[in-house]
Amino acid sequence: MMHPIDIADNIARVRDDISRFAHGRHVDLMLAAKHQPLERLAEAYNAGGTLMGHNLIDQLATSTEGLHNAGFFPITSVIGHVQSNKLSVAMQWADRIDTVDSLKTAQRINRRQEARLACGEVTGLYPILLQINSSGASTQFGCSPDSFVELARAISALPSIHIAGVMTIGAQGTDTDIRSSFVLTRRLAEEMRNLPGLADADVLSMGMSSDMRIAIEEGSTVVRVGTAIFGARPAQQA
Ligand SMILES: *Cc1c(COP(=O)(O)O)cnc(C)c1O
Repeated sequence: MMHPIDIADNIARVRDDISRFAHGRHVDLMLAAKHQPLERLAEAYNAGGTLMGHNLIDQLATSTEGLHNAGFFPITSVIGHVQSNKLSVAMQWADRIDTVDSLKTAQRINRRQEARLACGEVTGLYPILLQINSSGASTQFGCSPDSFVELARAISALPSIHIAGVMTIGAQGTDTDIRSSFVLTRRLAEEMRNLPGLADADVLSMGMSSDMRIAIEEGSTVVRVGTAIFGARPAQQA
């Protein structure tokens, strides 16, 4: 099938933008894969887009399996909210869950990882990011900024998961609103790294197609980009 979107061109252009905004600092590019058919993800992978983020757990499972069968092995994160009955499938297919925002969810991931360790299915700790609701919008998931550091402290005590850093979806609104949500997130991430054992939790996942410049200026280490690479999504509900 022909389509007017050249994924390889778009990836190259987004990478150029990233390096311009980052002034020599390294910032990773994660493809926001939601609603993209397997063939497009394979095309992106071939163009060097090997870091993928999924919102929808069913799609995470089917497309990651499809990519594996085709000989492609992306590094995959969950970037959408995970219902507790889908955590186990999410952990089976994703290398990291980037949206943990409660102790209950972290405890479930920890218990599941202990079960996987006990039967020899995996080794090591399961990596997660903690999601902060930096916009204050009640429609967004994420831990509230006020309780974030205490949540991070509690989760860091769980033995079979590893906090690798922080993720946020910034505010919508003026550039000033957006920037303050990213500044808030960066400051909370810095505070978190002062907790025992978290000095290396330095992933800061923030920025999407429309606000990645501001996110990178405020210290993002990974941007999650969908529209600027794949074009407008067929369905915009996620
Ligand atoms: C869809 C999505 C993105 C990418 O958004 P675009 O505007 O298409 O770049 C990033 N992060 C999350 C959590 C998303 O759901």
